[in-house]
Amino acid sequence: MKLLFAKIMDLHNHTIFSDGDMSIKELLEKAQKIGVEIIGISDHYEYMVGINPSISDYIQQLNKLNGGPIVILKGMEIKADTVIRLSLNEMAFIKDLDYIIVERLENMRDVNTIKRVLEYISEARQLYNKQLMVIAAHTRFDALLIRHAHNRHIIEDYLNILNIYNVVFEFNMAYHTNIIYNSIAIEKSIVSALVYSNLTVSIGSDTHGIYSKQIINFNKKVRDLLKL
Ligand SMILES: [Zn+2]
Repeated sequence: MKLLFAKIMDLHNHTIFSDGDMSIKELLEKAQKIGVEIIGISDHYEYMVGINPSISDYIQQLNKLNGGPIVILKGMEIKADTVIRLSLNEMAFIKDLDYIIVERLENMRDVNTIKRVLEYISEARQLYNKQLMVIAAHTRFDALLIRHAHNRHIIEDYLNILNIYNVVFEFNMAYHTNIIYNSIAIEKSIVSALVYSNLTVSIGSDTHGIYSKQIINFNKKVRDLLKL
């Protein structure tokens, strides 16, 4: 594994544009204060489609951002099953973004459906934004194993697919605490499959409310795990 950025990053955050409590401005100020060097805003697509505040309001706000000392990335989180329902026209919102976070990929029916989602995103990237980074949100290995009848190969298969489609693997502070802080207790095979994969890794707090200093320690722990 390798890190997406060499700096202290937090690429998974929600604001009042979806289910978060803070404004974008508040979030940025707090992140900067505690020492985050790269922050990403990643509100939910599903909260903004067809309602107020709309996707265009969100994009407009993001485009106005000026980070100063903190690097700001413009993102959006979207469900894998939403992606396959959208037309290519409807995918045009990615034009103005630095990255998208795809959630619940591991909940797709089978490996071919996961591939279909990522293939479709590749197509949209070709059309609208070749630079767009794609991140797989907070993969739940328990869900993946259960869905695939505890077939151990599914972990490697899943990580391989992410690799083939250049998808970044997210370590998420809300979901992967055990993997990071207590990897002896959890399945060692998962941890080693992760560490020895060729994947690129991002780090996210998944903050919805109070922004906490824990993300700094979490960045350190991920580096320790990857031996960086
Ligand atoms: Zn999220």
